[in-house]
Amino acid sequence: MVIDDFEAGPDGKIRCNACPVLCWIRPGLAGACDRYANQDGKLVRVDPHVLLERATAAGENIVPFSREWDGNLFVTAVGAGTTYPDYKPAPFIVSSQIEGVDTVTVVTEGIFSYCGLKVKIDTDRHLGPEQAIVRVEGEAIGHVTTGEYGSQMLSLGGVHHLTGGSKKEGRVTCDALLALSNRKAVELTIDGGATVLVEAGRPPVIDGVVEERMRVGCGSATIGMFAKQWFGKVDDVVVVDDHITGVWSEHQAGKLIGVKPTGLRIRGRRSTPGRYFKVAEPGTGWGGTNLTDPLAILDAFDPKVARPGQTLLMVSTTGEHRAFFRLDEALRPREDQMPDDLAGSVALIRENCEPALSTVLFMAGAGGSLRAGVTENPIRLTRSIREALTLVTCGGAPVYVWPGGGITFMVDVTLLPDNAFGMVPTPALVAPIEFTLRLDDYAALGGHMDAVRPVASLDLAQRRLAPTPRTGRPR
Ligand code: SF4
Repeated sequence: MVIDDFEAGPDGKIRCNACPVLCWIRPGLAGACDRYANQDGKLVRVDPHVLLERATAAGENIVPFSREWDGNLFVTAVGAGTTYPDYKPAPFIVSSQIEGVDTVTVVTEGIFSYCGLKVKIDTDRHLGPEQAIVRVEGEAIGHVTTGEYGSQMLSLGGVHHLTGGSKKEGRVTCDALLALSNRKAVELTIDGGATVLVEAGRPPVIDGVVEERMRVGCGSATIGMFAKQWFGKVDDVVVVDDHITGVWSEHQAGKLIGVKPTGLRIRGRRSTPGRYFKVAEPGTGWGGTNLTDPLAILDAFDPKVARPGQTLLMVSTTGEHRAFFRLDEALRPREDQMPDDLAGSVALIRENCEPALSTVLFMAGAGGSLRAGVTENPIRLTRSIREALTLVTCGGAPVYVWPGGGITFMVDVTLLPDNAFGMVPTPALVAPIEFTLRLDDYAALGGHMDAVRPVASLDLAQRRLAPTPRTGRPR
């Protein structure tokens, strides 16, 4: 796609002003970001501009990505070019009729110095302590943040890593964010923790081992879910978990179905009956602990309650680790062959574990100067989004806009067309963003009405039709 806005220089060179780097580009070559090139003395946007089209024609399933969309063409910002330096209208301000309503979509490839990724890794395994630094090529690009239910969370990028460290830190951070956003695999190393290969929508690989399942729940939840399955098949069950280890005979679920005390005693901090914290250190063993031998968390059985021959199942929250024990004459647990009916209950735990995935959300702030490409009065765009008059999408995918000030949004990178993200060496990420609203609302917020053009005026030969996202959540 040819871009009109450039400066001609000596020897056929042209100057791109699509970002602050302001490359002089020789004939036949591309600029520092590989997104713009000098083609016969003209500035061209190298990647095709992407329009989304209804995928049902190809027999594919789709999820509506916006309530307003009528299933025909949707103009995305992927490959559209940028508004920078933002005093001018966005590259495409396109009008169309949606269900009889005159509508406009304003698209631009935003240059985001304020951006990062929130990465959710479905695993119980300990990846590293909270606040531990996450590195690529030895450079700090983010940190471990709060653990969530069945998942470990990383926060990557952000303005401090992009701009506040060394030049190399900024470059490596930008490269890693770009690769992860475009659904490429990146190896991350965590200080004092694991090495994780992350690829959006794929299972994580932790210290070289593919993670297959996320846990069914914490140890206490596992007891609650499967309490009845074990009744009559075993005397007691311990579900080993780094956060909350559950003991069936003591847990309320066990008590209510009539499980008798067994004299089992756990080393750990008792929270409430049958729920124990800190039974071991975090690790990559049983239930996200460092345990290789689960018996290490048991104290001696109470001889006033326990009896020889009593049985015990110990299992992790994924069912990946499990062992069956029988007490000997001295009330010491001895491992034994697991009965078939009990093995069936362990298989049920495994069946209820979802596949482990890495999820990558791109998060950026669009509340700055790019708003000037939409309206001459930027605060009105922010208010219009707050009032749900303007729909924000990212490469056609639905976004979550954070409450509070600004236009801080998050998007699941697996919902965007291929290679939707780019970079500029300032360093910053380039991401598509679209604003869709009624034409009369656009006029009211001070939109660039003289730049509005009908969708039928677009030269489809210069554009790539891509199917709408095949998976995702409708708004
Ligand atoms: S880095 Fe890319 S967008 Fe920025 S001036 Fe150079 S060619 Fe243009």
